[in-house]
Amino acid sequence: MSLNVIMLGPPGAGKGTQAARLAREHHVLKISTGDILRDAVTQGSHLGQVAKRVMDEGHLVPDDVMVGVVRERLARPDARHGFILDGFPRTVPQATSLDDMIRDRGLLTVLHMVVPFEELVKRLHIRRICNSCGANADPAMPDGARCPKCGGEFVQRTDDSEEIVRERLKVFQDETSPLVQYYEKSPTFFTINGNLPLEDVSRQIREAVTTSMGVGAATVRQRNVTQ
Ligand code: AMP
Repeated sequence: MSLNVIMLGPPGAGKGTQAARLAREHHVLKISTGDILRDAVTQGSHLGQVAKRVMDEGHLVPDDVMVGVVRERLARPDARHGFILDGFPRTVPQATSLDDMIRDRGLLTVLHMVVPFEELVKRLHIRRICNSCGANADPAMPDGARCPKCGGEFVQRTDDSEEIVRERLKVFQDETSPLVQYYEKSPTFFTINGNLPLEDVSRQIREAVTTSMGVGAATVRQRNVTQ
């Protein structure tokens, strides 16, 4: 059975970190739309040129562009056995497009990560990422430490300045939080308390995924009985 997961939650909730862990544990592809866009900006591709200004302002790249990016990525062979989507969908139109794209792929597990507003502002303000591999710096590392994975330099993301962070959180509130209503009636929707130590957040996610796979298996059995 394939594992199809989306991570919902505001910037700074820990979606990327937890998505990477989950992807490793289940040997399934992680797709981060933010990473795809940052790579495109670095490469100077057409997508990067479209995205750069919008990202620097803390706004959202247009839905049709993002839907095209994700549709193309999900169509590749390495996404056949499932995916963990980090950062998509971010609007209701993106969610309805995703429903269309994955109609024949089994259940969608929705992990909704919740963290208090002021904690998010604090986390984003101190966040540093590796300018080479994109890994998050451990906040306990001393100033000037290099990335333990690749030796790269830790820098602040251009959209993590305080002014842009507040704009991104406002955009989340206006555009992305309605997705909770969109998904919350699903039996595979789970609220995750993201304001806990990393391991405790991972444990909640593991439990949610186990429950979700049980729902998926029951649905398949039910379908076989009624056919
Ligand atoms: P993230 O790394 O997920 O925080 O994304 C960084 C920025 O990329 C966002 O602030 C948006 O400008 C853009 N972005 C990423 N994913 C999406 C999406 N699904 N829809 C629109 N814009 C996106």
